[in-house]
Amino acid sequence: METPDFSIEFFPPKTPEGAEKLRIARAKLAELNPKYFSVTFGAGGSTQQGTLATVREIQAAGHEAAPHLSCIGATRESIRDVLKQYQDSGIRRVVALRGDLPSGYGGAGELRYASELVEFIRQETGDWFHIEVAAYPEMHPQARSPQDDLQAFARKVGAGANAAITQYFYNADAYFQFVDNVRKLGIDVPVVAGIMPITNTMQLLRFSDMCGAEIPRWVRLKLASFGDDSASIKAFGLDVVTGLCERLLAGGAPGLHFYSMNQAAPTTAIWQRLRA
Ligand code: FAD
Repeated sequence: METPDFSIEFFPPKTPEGAEKLRIARAKLAELNPKYFSVTFGAGGSTQQGTLATVREIQAAGHEAAPHLSCIGATRESIRDVLKQYQDSGIRRVVALRGDLPSGYGGAGELRYASELVEFIRQETGDWFHIEVAAYPEMHPQARSPQDDLQAFARKVGAGANAAITQYFYNADAYFQFVDNVRKLGIDVPVVAGIMPITNTMQLLRFSDMCGAEIPRWVRLKLASFGDDSASIKAFGLDVVTGLCERLLAGGAPGLHFYSMNQAAPTTAIWQRLRA
């Protein structure tokens, strides 16, 4: 088996204090030698400059950085401008997404789905970018059915995506099933597993409700039993997520992509356990 790829995701900080904290976290995480750091992009362009600034800092520190790019609410012209900025900054990898509009935000934009964005990136920039797209082992919450969602994923690869990163999940079987179904369609791109460390019960439940990730009942009950005992939540979360990562890697996952939430400690703890 090839050595799995590890990558780490940040969001662009909103304040100077957040930026300083991220610098410290990034320096610690860089010691783990990830393949690249990715930086999210606020749908509607709300974090556009923050994404680019964060990516440039990562590059300046000597690491590969992959900005995300979402198309919802955007025009072709505005996406063309962002792609140009990315190219001018020497960026060779992007994570291409539809995005979710904040409530109250205007129209859907000129490209409706991530597959159309991937197609547009290829039209505009040829093979310049290595394109990652999102995948949903537990189905995207707006999809009509798992089959429809699988077809939507196939369209993104057909449009020119090189690889995929999954939404986070805690059920390894959902991932293995999804990859099996993808392979049955003749799609052979790597499907890297997205990993969300567990550190805060309320935050986890809120995010998971929004993005359609299932928290297994036994995990939810156990977390609830800890109340606000943060040390127990973190220790339990570390066991659960490390166990998940071990299963995924043993089952052939080509890599892990950590949703770091701009914090070094949770990802580092999982990583060190995996190495041990
Ligand atoms: P799509 O692949 O376009 O799918 C969206 C929905 O449309 C799905 O339900 C799909 O089944 C359906 N669909 C697709 N094509 C068709 C079609 N032709 N006809 C009918 N239905 C169709 N969000 C951000 O705003 N910024 C980020 O930086 C960001 N980073 C992310 C990184 C990762 C790794 C992941 C997994 C998600 C990220 N997201 C981000 C969240 C993502 O934008 C949302 O999950 C969004 O709702 C869907 O984006 P998508 O690219 O998967 O969309």
